[in-house]
Amino acid sequence: MSHLYKPKARASCIFAYQSKMKMLIRNKQIAIVGAGPAGLTLARLLQLKGTNVKVYERDFDKYARVQGSPLDMHEGSGLDALRQAGLLNEFYASVHIGADKKIIVDERAEIRFSDHESDTTAIYSRPEMDRGTLRKILLDSLRPETVVWDRHFLSMGKHGGGWMLHFRNGASAYADLVIATDGANSKIRPYVTDIKALYSGITMVELKIKDAANTVPVIHELLNGGKVMAFGDGKCILGGQKGTGDLGFYLSLKIAEAWATGNHLDYADNTHLLAWFKREYTGWADLWDEIIINATSPIIPRPIYYMPLNQTWKAQPNVTLLGDAAHVMPPFAGEGANMAMLDASELSECLTSDKFSDLQEAIAAYETEMRRRAAIATRQSLENGERMHSPDALENMLSILGG
Ligand SMILES: Cc1cc2nc3c(=O)[nH]c(=O)nc-3n(C[C@H](O)[C@H](O)[C@H](O)COP(=O)(O)OP(=O)(O)OC[C@H]3O[C@@H](n4cnc5c(N)ncnc54)[C@H](O)[C@@H]3O)c2cc1C
Repeated sequence: MSHLYKPKARASCIFAYQSKMKMLIRNKQIAIVGAGPAGLTLARLLQLKGTNVKVYERDFDKYARVQGSPLDMHEGSGLDALRQAGLLNEFYASVHIGADKKIIVDERAEIRFSDHESDTTAIYSRPEMDRGTLRKILLDSLRPETVVWDRHFLSMGKHGGGWMLHFRNGASAYADLVIATDGANSKIRPYVTDIKALYSGITMVELKIKDAANTVPVIHELLNGGKVMAFGDGKCILGGQKGTGDLGFYLSLKIAEAWATGNHLDYADNTHLLAWFKREYTGWADLWDEIIINATSPIIPRPIYYMPLNQTWKAQPNVTLLGDAAHVMPPFAGEGANMAMLDASELSECLTSDKFSDLQEAIAAYETEMRRRAAIATRQSLENGERMHSPDALENMLSILGG
């Protein structure tokens, strides 16, 4: 079966924009800070519309390893943005076929649901890709020198009608319009709003297992190239296949926010971590010990945050927020990167539309819709999180999936 996607006719409209690009951003220098899914998608879409854009990224160079679980892309958001960016063929050529297949197990690792036998065309419903591969596809689509590496944003000051940005390595750069795509701990967000993220009550401990077929063969076989979701006693273990042959796992549990920084666990000592795991996941099958014993560095505790659902602020004429910088949310609906890429799509439309009389109006229109949409996705993510960490999580999940 060919996995090449045939773009819809709509994609060709993008090129028409170049000729009738609205003057709001003509001759303006645009600085996007952060080369994640939000920043790179926006850079690509704005370049397709002929605009002058630079992406400032703190990573030292394009070879920096991108951490984190694979991302699944959804119709109506991430996939639409890739379609608009003209990159669906590149995306489908690199997706993990079958990585979205899943099993649901109980704490004894008994399989209670599996969709591995279902129609393989389901790969198109929520195709998955490693973050690093997605970054490469987006980077390769940009004009040379668009991304300026080793630019860790520290601060900015008003300068003429725009901003002078200052970076950790001493460099500075001017921009008429600054777009913050620097993630959940955005340093630009405070220039727009002082509303802060709230702790969801859940922390996920990220583990990686290299060469899983050899190091954890039983678990590797259980996953069968897809995902596992294990529920019991209000806790979860969530795992998935990475493109490299590695497995990624999260131990996900309700625990105090301060635990991540104050738990005194020695993450370099897997036996120490195993002793903690046995205490926290009492009664879970010994099979799970394998993922703790074989986890490689770095093991990262990630407290999960979200922005208030009713957050609002007054739009500015020369700075705005996208992606996690605007609306970090729990990962339990798989919407964060998808919303980030949809933000990019909608902001690029607003900035190049002829509907608005000035940049502030265009930014206000984008931000109003972005906040509305993100609040819905955040609520869904929070509800899923509660469901997955409730005492009857297994039954809940099985009833949703019809198992
Ligand atoms: C466990 C987990 C699983 C997830 N699974 C999914 C999923 O399946 N699907 C999905 O849609 N979402 C998922 N998400 C959410 C997703 O990871 C984020 O929503 C997404 O990465 C946000 O993209 P972004 O571009 O806004 O920010 P990021 O991906 O965080 O990118 C920010 C970029 O900015 C750079 N940066 C940061 N600070 C600075 C600075 N000061 N100066 C310069 N550069 C800086 C960073 O190096 C990085 O390159 C998951 C999240 C977690 C935690």
